[in-house]
Amino acid sequence: MFSRARITMMQQLRVAVVGAGAAGLCAARHILARPDTFAPPVVYELTEHVGGTWFYEERTGSYDNGLPIHSSMYRNLRTNLPKEVMMFPDFPFDSQLPSFLPHEEVQRYLERYCQCHLITPHIRFSTVVEEVRPITEETEKGVMTTWEVTSQDKSGSQETQTFDSVFICSGHYSDPYIPSIPGIERFKGKVIHSHSYRHPEPFSGQSVVVLGAGASGLDISLELGRSNAQVTLSHGKPTLPFPLPYGIHQATPVVEVQEDGSLRFQDGAITQAQVLMLCTGYKFSYPFLKPAQLGLEIHDHLVTPLYKFLMPPAFPSLFIIGICKMICPFQQFHCQTQFSLAVLEGSVTLPSQAEMEEEAVKEMERKVEWGVKPRNMLKMDKDQWSYARTLAQMGKFPPLTPVTQSLYEEVWRQKQAHPQIYRHVNYRLVSDTQWEQQDRQAGE
Ligand code: FAD
Repeated sequence: MFSRARITMMQQLRVAVVGAGAAGLCAARHILARPDTFAPPVVYELTEHVGGTWFYEERTGSYDNGLPIHSSMYRNLRTNLPKEVMMFPDFPFDSQLPSFLPHEEVQRYLERYCQCHLITPHIRFSTVVEEVRPITEETEKGVMTTWEVTSQDKSGSQETQTFDSVFICSGHYSDPYIPSIPGIERFKGKVIHSHSYRHPEPFSGQSVVVLGAGASGLDISLELGRSNAQVTLSHGKPTLPFPLPYGIHQATPVVEVQEDGSLRFQDGAITQAQVLMLCTGYKFSYPFLKPAQLGLEIHDHLVTPLYKFLMPPAFPSLFIIGICKMICPFQQFHCQTQFSLAVLEGSVTLPSQAEMEEEAVKEMERKVEWGVKPRNMLKMDKDQWSYARTLAQMGKFPPLTPVTQSLYEEVWRQKQAHPQIYRHVNYRLVSDTQWEQQDRQAGE
């Protein structure tokens, strides 16, 4: 069992962080706050900037170095969580801002977080991590694991550096999930994934079938409708959260592209379209990991087994931050990071590898029994609060304040009841347990 942290407490532990989005910045901030235990981290970032998802890229396709564009942000996106619960618990947004923000404000917030915590000097920009490899060694004190991280910088020069721990903060909204649609090669129009959607203007006047009615599918359908596209929203949901305006039609899922290039829907209806917009989500992708080496299975929508949705039981010095969905991401990164650092510091007593594996496997088995599909297994929703409490108890750090949960739940109710206008409201945190509604903005 890994126990390098305890064994080498007198030396500073060396930590690599893959990615300088919100999760990577959070990891770096907390590592830098513990100089007695940790050396300053090495943060690898493949782009030239921090922010990850929140850095809006007008470009689509690839960067100059041939790597695929990371961010899936579109121009008109506004946050679906108010800043009062979206923030890192120890770093509020500017109080003058409205609750629901355009993406530029989140990017500015992350840049300010980075500056305030003096993280920038520790980031290696334009440097892609190509491999993260465990090196295990039998010693008289037990099995010791270190990590070799191989990276390549802009000039093409490769380097391998050794660390005691690695935080994987590379995000999971970048690699499009493309469903298999029989005959798709016969489609005569343009097929585009929401990852490469930026704004509606290019689609004005065109007939667009949007496949998928998740957050992006709904948002993009509405934008396209307002821009005079003829939109058909194709999805498998029994009902949508709100009636569709602007003449947007609904259809059952696309099941086939016919000989003549037309789209056939599940109920037999047929349509010709100029664009098929896939709002079908993203898959987990860690090209720099060898899953079998780590005792992991990485599927499109599931990574397993992970103890506490964080670490492979066989290698509890590797932490995958932020893998869960339907959460308050920044708040969860904050908790997971502190828990992971407590593990490395040796202040959390981990169960044995077999016990961690059993817990992770049982969690998944329970979900299978409840009928949860593999693609939804990492959706946390209501469970995120008890999860965060458990991490805080085990890691001995302050838990999230109750106001976070109550405001999150209120916003969720508002979203269900008034899906088109829930973002018009502003909130204010009054205390650790109370929030109040401040005012209502005029229209979006
Ligand atoms: P990312 O932001 O994706 O950052 C990962 C970083 O890792 C990137 O900078 C990337 O360049 C880098 N990287 C990746 N691979 C490598 C490598 N091999 N080597 C070096 N660097 C690498 N969340 C909310 O809280 N509210 C919202 O309203 C909201 N809206 C969203 C809308 C969209 C369209 C999307 C896609 C996501 C949204 N999210 C929202 C979720 C959002 O992803 C999280 O808030 C958060 O930004 C994720 O941070 P991250 O650091 O985990 O990943």
